[in-house]
Order: sequence, then structure tokens, then C-alpha cells
Amino acid sequence: MNCPICQGRGYSFEDRQGYAVVVPCTCQNARRLQQSLQAAGIPRAYWNFTLQLKPKDHRQTLVAGGPAAARIHEPSLKEPFMKTKASQTTAIRRCRKLAEDLLAALLHGEKREVKGLLLYGPCGVGKTHLLGTLLTDLVYEGLSQVQFVDYAQLLRRLRFSYQSGGGGEQAVLEPLAGYKVLVLDDLGGETTENLAWVQDVLGFILTERQNRDLPTLITTNYPDEGQLPPVRGENARPNTYLVDRIGQRLRSRLYELCPLEVMSGLDLRPFLS
Ligand SMILES: [Zn+2]
Repeated sequence: MNCPICQGRGYSFEDRQGYAVVVPCTCQNARRLQQSLQAAGIPRAYWNFTLQLKPKDHRQTLVAGGPAAARIHEPSLKEPFMKTKASQTTAIRRCRKLAEDLLAALLHGEKREVKGLLLYGPCGVGKTHLLGTLLTDLVYEGLSQVQFVDYAQLLRRLRFSYQSGGGGEQAVLEPLAGYKVLVLDDLGGETTENLAWVQDVLGFILTERQNRDLPTLITTNYPDEGQLPPVRGENARPNTYLVDRIGQRLRSRLYELCPLEVMSGLDLRPFLS
């Protein structure tokens, strides 16, 4: 699809005191932005959302409940939905504040302590959407060097890299240590039975990023032991608490680096289709 101003050339002409001067076309800003979002690994579905209250661009403000809200007002579902919505609203507010702090510290060089975030909640409450939107905001504001990574996909890439002689840890994991902000999506969602290896990978990432004072933002479906009922449903395994997936030592480290935010309530996904 060609730009109506420059017909895809990427530049246009501007009249300056009678001379035609070549200037980059405004479409090039949008293109650069898209390239940055893509390079950051942010799923396209989140590119049109923002945590800002009044977006000045074409994006939509992320609201609790989202598009599902209008559809689930049958009496039996109303109460759990209200609970979900309240916890979503809290999580959105917290992420908005976090985004502001990250920009202040990492883009504008202000002295602010920035911690990571561990966003827990059952499937479908919008954890990934929330962190995908947060990262999109950072890119829009001009913070490059951020990355969105699906944890299971990362492990698959790592395994493939070992098998194909692609450099393993050095090629796949080390770059993750240097991103200014890293989102690890769906921690514990991997299917491998080699938990020691999974823990090593997470341990490496957290330690390297802690050494550089860089925040890691994580989503997980796995509740903490004793705090909430374990995960049920088709993906449930015998060990279904977070501590069973990542071990006691990493769990303490994770809680120290990434304060917990709980999003509760029902799975909204059946209502989204
Ligand atoms: Zn153009």
C-alpha cells in the first residue's frame, strides 16, 4: 500500500524560498515505529493499544474487561466478572505507573528505582495484553532496546540452537541480558520435563539482568504455594504451583526482583470469540 503523499518513495519535496528541497515523508515515521515494534518482538495484536488515559494517536486505551465487557452481563456471570474487572483495573494502573517510571529512569536518565513485575492470573484475564501494551507504549515514547519474549518459544529456540550448532546460550540468551526492558511471557507454560534446565535458563537471565540493574517483567498462570488454588484444566500438571516449576531458590529471587501483582477472575477468552 503506497503512501498518498510520496507514492512509496519515502521522501517528498518541500518548497523553501523557491527551491524544492527533499525531505523525508511523514510516512517514514510510522514505518520506523512499526519496524521498532516488530524488532521488539511485540505481537501485532497489541500495537494499537496504549495504557495512556487519552491517547493522542490512533491507539485505543486499554480498559479492564476490554471488548468482552459488553457481552457478559448474564446474571450468573456478572459477579465474577466484576471481580475480574476490579483486579484488571488495579493491574492496568500499576502498569501505567511502571511505564512512567521506566521511561523516567531509562529514557530520561532520572534517578528512580525501577523493579520488575510478576503478573500472575489465570488464563485469559489479559496479562499478556497488558505487558504487550506497556512495551508498545515504551517503543512509542522512544525507548528502543526492549524485548518481548514468549518463554516456551525461547526454550524451543534454545534447544534448536544447541542441535544445529547455532551457539546455544551465547547466541540466544546473552542478548536478553542487555535489553533495557525484557518481558518474559507465560513463565511455567513450557512443556519440557527438564525442569533443571528451565530453571538454569531463568536463573541466568535474572542474574545477568540484576547485575546490570535492568528490570524484567513476567507473566505466569502459576499461583504461589498456599496463596491460591493450583492451576486446573487441560494444561495442568501434577506440580502446578510456581515454586514447583522454578524451584525455591529462584522463587525467592523472582519475588525480590519482580513484585507480584495478581489479576483474578474468570477466563474471558470464551467471550472474545
Ligand atoms: Zn510517504
